[in-house]
Amino acid sequence: MSNSGLVNYTKISPNRTSPRRNKIDRITIHHMAGNLTVETCGNVFAPRSRQASSNYGISSDGRVGMYVEEKDRAWTSSSGANDHRAITIEVADNAGAPGWGCSSAAMAKLILLCADICRRNGIKKLTYTGDTKGNMTLHKWFASTDCPGAYLESQMPTIASEVNKLLASGATTYTWKGATATGGSVPASSGKVTSNGKIAVDGSWGIATTKKAQAVFGTVQDGIISGQPISNKKYLANAYTGSWQFVSGRATGSNLIRAIQRRIGAAADGYFGRKSVMKFQSWLGVSVDGSMGPATVKAFQKWLNKQ
Ligand SMILES: [Zn+2]
Repeated sequence: MSNSGLVNYTKISPNRTSPRRNKIDRITIHHMAGNLTVETCGNVFAPRSRQASSNYGISSDGRVGMYVEEKDRAWTSSSGANDHRAITIEVADNAGAPGWGCSSAAMAKLILLCADICRRNGIKKLTYTGDTKGNMTLHKWFASTDCPGAYLESQMPTIASEVNKLLASGATTYTWKGATATGGSVPASSGKVTSNGKIAVDGSWGIATTKKAQAVFGTVQDGIISGQPISNKKYLANAYTGSWQFVSGRATGSNLIRAIQRRIGAAADGYFGRKSVMKFQSWLGVSVDGSMGPATVKAFQKWLNKQ
């Protein structure tokens, strides 16, 4: 399970249940009931006494904070049943009660973040039904609160339809009322699998390239290359973080990388570092410089399409 590549600031809260019990299949958008920066929101969730957190927060300038990793359940919606399944997002208000408005920059980033969450977690479509039958839920359905506030609640159907447009187009840029947000884990050009099973030869190693490689190498097809040490990121310029999971702590390595390493004759430790990249480049017949740039990824994508 990965986290969003849109995150600008991380401060992990102790207020979480690790790991979450259920697969992620819904999103719950909250409001901060205040105009908090992502740093201030992180400070609010830092003390254990607060007994509250969220997976993500978005400030009025459109920055994204992460307080609970997606693999863990955040304590946001007064409902374990909901939050074990949900990614929860706190959005800053740039207007107070009773309207609780949000900035255009926050709205643009919120929609882009929701699309990013759906793509990485296999949620095909967001549906707001006004009750718990849909996969967008509201805090106020589980507790005596008006969260997410009048404005965000009124925008839920629009948020769902705008996210669904992004999921259909593959776009990673979104504009809401003049504010443009860009980025996220899956670049528009990052190897969409076409009907004949071919991927785009675009030099970007995203989820589609990983899935195709997993199909070719016979490992689990989740689009994720797990457990890569963050210290190796400098050799992997064209690896997108939505597919490649870089960790700062103990790195478990990836079964797909082990399979590739066995094929190319590198030590099968599951980590793609400088030595493996050099072996990979030599095997692909591209220039060997130990840095996985677009030429290396394109050569691999071409090879995958021939399998
Ligand atoms: Zn709430």
